[in-house]
Amino acid sequence: MIKVDLKGSEKEFENGVSVAEVAKSIGMGLYKSACAAKVNGEVCDLRTVLNEDCKVEILTFDDKEGKKAYWHTASHIMAQAVNRLYPGTKFAIGPAVDNGFYYDMELPQAITNDDLAKIEAEMKKIIKEDIEIERFELPVAEALALMKGQDYKEELIREHAAEGEHISFYKQGDFTDLCAGPHLMRTGNVKAVKLTSITGAYWRGDASNKMLQRLYGIAFPKQSLLEEHLTMMEEAKKRDHNKLGRELELFTTSDVIGQGLPILLPKGARIVQLLQRFVEDEEQRRGWLLTKTPFMAKSDLYKISGHWDHYKDGMFVLGDEEKDKEVFALRPMTCPFQYQAYLNRKRSYRDLPLRYNETSTLFRNEASGEMHGLIRVRQFTISEGHLMCTPEQLEDEFRKCLELAIFMLKTLGLYEDVSYRFSQWDPNDRAKYIGTEEQWNEAQGLMERILNHLEIPYEIGIGEAAFYGPKLDIQIKNVYGKEDTLITIQIDQMLAEQFGMVYTDKDGKQKTPCIIHRTSIGCYERTLALLIEKYAGAFPLWLAPVQVKLLPIADRHLDYLYEVKKQLEDKGFRCEVDDRSEKIGYKIREAQLEKVPYMVVVGDKDIENNTISIRKRKEGDLGAMTVEQFLEKIVPDRDNKVID
Ligand SMILES: [Zn+2]
Ligand SMILES: [Zn+2]
Repeated sequence: MIKVDLKGSEKEFENGVSVAEVAKSIGMGLYKSACAAKVNGEVCDLRTVLNEDCKVEILTFDDKEGKKAYWHTASHIMAQAVNRLYPGTKFAIGPAVDNGFYYDMELPQAITNDDLAKIEAEMKKIIKEDIEIERFELPVAEALALMKGQDYKEELIREHAAEGEHISFYKQGDFTDLCAGPHLMRTGNVKAVKLTSITGAYWRGDASNKMLQRLYGIAFPKQSLLEEHLTMMEEAKKRDHNKLGRELELFTTSDVIGQGLPILLPKGARIVQLLQRFVEDEEQRRGWLLTKTPFMAKSDLYKISGHWDHYKDGMFVLGDEEKDKEVFALRPMTCPFQYQAYLNRKRSYRDLPLRYNETSTLFRNEASGEMHGLIRVRQFTISEGHLMCTPEQLEDEFRKCLELAIFMLKTLGLYEDVSYRFSQWDPNDRAKYIGTEEQWNEAQGLMERILNHLEIPYEIGIGEAAFYGPKLDIQIKNVYGKEDTLITIQIDQMLAEQFGMVYTDKDGKQKTPCIIHRTSIGCYERTLALLIEKYAGAFPLWLAPVQVKLLPIADRHLDYLYEVKKQLEDKGFRCEVDDRSEKIGYKIREAQLEKVPYMVVVGDKDIENNTISIRKRKEGDLGAMTVEQFLEKIVPDRDNKVID
């Protein structure tokens, strides 16, 4: 017998019981809604056999990992349907993502969105057939034989084998797929499905490979949840920064400039300038010292930092290593540059903590297929910082970096949307990292203690660390629910050593400082994208590129209007006059579409009474008031960065 701890209550089972049977013993309801499980904290399949005392947590669709198993099962059902309808299809990979699932495949004939209904109907049949899903493992040779003709699967099997992994499969009736799982127990456990789109995708995201077709879908345990989700997605499309940001003339792109290189138009550039001033002023208040370092450096610098060995593919290299005496590269991050500032003179413990910040423009050579609006870009600007301190100062300084980030997020109204991820290294993929196992265990242990001490709730991301150290990533979801890292705070005990950075401690000994890498706001382009989506373009007053739009009812009101404009501008407000000879109703509607926070309308009566008539973006007509009264209202809102 073994003892299984189920969220605090203990139950006894026969040796060799499966997780699914454990779920069943709790109740048929839970068994039917079970998607996967956590055994001793690790996500695993419901088919997992238990042979010793352990902690078991059953995951359902309401859990993040449960959802993934659910969607991944739906992706297999989709592949099975395609296989039935289009025999000879070659399957690549079909994972669950943040908002549903996809499968990349090479079909014998290209299909279009019109074919999705047919595939969906076949999926519904497979769900109705309620086929049992079985898992099995095979030795490499047999695995290859089973997947013969499935070129992508064969390639993956060879890769998994080289890494010493088990080759596992999932079989549901006439369809078998190479897969690590976990999966639901039966196809009938998936209820409502919808295929949403088809795009092209290169095998392994590499443009030199074959272009495959990627089919996207979504699934829910109830039809009503699916419908709710589809309505939400329709709403999201209207807020999509890549659409709305262009409509509001915040940014654009140009084919001759290139993909992933957006152009900020005057309104977008204004918002970024406001964010940047806000961040730099706040950092200064909190003891950060501004540096301004070059955009490029010789390869020598990146060789010391390890970027040349671990990050070269992601960098823009200028020159040819074979031919040129000196090769340069555009910077992908600022760390090695700010370390040179630290090395400018001898340091003692009295200099620490030394906090360097910089508004850094960085360059990363991402695959062109990945480019998207302001979010996937090749050049971006970020509020980067590096802090050198003694081991005793580390926790306190880490906390302050986190407080700075939280302050920024709260001010921007984004804080409620974030979650934390503790990004660790992958000990099975050593080549990706510098440093020894002890160094990693030490850095991660230290970070874990700090996070627990600060009571930060986090998820763990294995293999998500930087090559030189673990990170706390502040994650945020975009309007479609897709998660991205916005802010990161990292502990690094390795790069200081590589660069020979030391300080003289109280005891006269030379010691290596601890380093924190941090950003205090996401890169400005991504933050702008998030703000566009969050506010659907209706930015808080302090961030609005045009804060007040002045509208004369007739041309004879223009002189008075320009006088009002001057008074507002003297107080620092950004104003625009709409002096076109259009009807006032039309001008109001246009200003509304531009999402300008305030409109000032002036007619005969206003001039007579020495007032202005105010309209607010959301509330509409606020009536007539004097310019002074209007200022009394809007100055505090702007200065306090009020979100309304
Ligand atoms: Zn799979
Ligand atoms: Zn850094």
